[in-house]
Amino acid sequence: MSDKESRNDPFGPEKIIKIYDPRSGLRAVVVIDNTALGPAIGGVRVALDVDTREVCRLARAMTLKNALAAIPHGGGKSGLVADPRRSDKQALFRIFARAIRDLSDYIPGPDMGSDESCMACIQDEIGRAVGLPRVLGGIPLDSIGATGYGVAQAARLALPATGRSLSGGTLVIQGFGNVGRPTADFLLRQGMRLIAVSDSAGAIHDPAGLPLDKLLQCKARGQSVVELSGATVINSEELIALPCDLLVPAARPDVIHQGNQANVRAKVIVEGANIPVSEVAESQLHQRGVLVIPDIVANAGGVICAAVEYAGGSEREALRRIGATLRHNTKRLLERIQSGLEPRAAALELAEERIREAMGYRR
Ligand code: NAD
Repeated sequence: MSDKESRNDPFGPEKIIKIYDPRSGLRAVVVIDNTALGPAIGGVRVALDVDTREVCRLARAMTLKNALAAIPHGGGKSGLVADPRRSDKQALFRIFARAIRDLSDYIPGPDMGSDESCMACIQDEIGRAVGLPRVLGGIPLDSIGATGYGVAQAARLALPATGRSLSGGTLVIQGFGNVGRPTADFLLRQGMRLIAVSDSAGAIHDPAGLPLDKLLQCKARGQSVVELSGATVINSEELIALPCDLLVPAARPDVIHQGNQANVRAKVIVEGANIPVSEVAESQLHQRGVLVIPDIVANAGGVICAAVEYAGGSEREALRRIGATLRHNTKRLLERIQSGLEPRAAALELAEERIREAMGYRR
């Protein structure tokens, strides 16, 4: 392991475990970043190019997000070096589960390349996983729109902070998946108008408002949003540059960066995806008067849902907790931004305060 990979700071990582099973060829890394608030929760990413450095970064993001989410869990993550489409994935997950049996301070969940069936395999092997199928006590966070609900709650406070209201406000969403779709649904019910949306095949724009029901039908048929008739097809850079009250990037990392942030004409950005805006661009947007609600605050709905599931709570309880936490955190974030901090610094400060306090109670 290189020095870069194992770099420590006052928060962690507490453990980096590399797993290799010569019989199956399984290669994986588990990073338990910080457990001051409780056993670490974090997803299992399956990708051919996942490495220790990436897993360390993701585990730290979970430490911060879980602290902000006010759940009794620290942050961790694991990476399984494999093709996510391989046919024996479930068998691989069973081997992985047995390898982490004694890592009782790590609770795996789904991430890119893994799903509830993978979590069911882990649960069956070692009785410790979140993001389970409903029949095993899971709360299906994607189908209830847990993260999108949280994003919408953050937007409900962020827009009025810039003198705007949801009712009649214009909305642009990049990425129309498990985060983007429910975000649109919740915000349109609050009176917003969806003027542009995109998926991996392209983007569409209609200043008069796009019909959500028809867009959802498109996706349910496995089509792209660009197949909706009547709207203008635009490219992804044009989408980011549209004037609107609220832009929700809910697809890929780093879609807004130093090179294109100057084109953004949204008044507020609520980060639905993980790291959709580079840190430098976040700072530049702030200087230009664009209010950014960072990912570690805005997209915590999914992990709150997972924590409620782990504690044996209901779907109703999960949504109640997501709503209350996201509104509370967004309010505190806005107060710190108003007192002069940049949004990312304010979010980190809030998260780190809680982790430090919990660390103070440790032996
Ligand atoms: P998803 O796979 O369900 O949806 C992603 C959407 O983005 C799809 O519509 C896809 O077509 C679209 N997309 C992909 N590349 C694109 C591009 N270049 N331009 C425009 N659209 C593109 O994924 P998801 O669960 O909605 O997650 C989206 C992001 O949010 C990821 O960064 C994920 O890590 C993050 N996130 C998800 C959750 C959750 O609960 N699902 C929670 C926290 C963070």
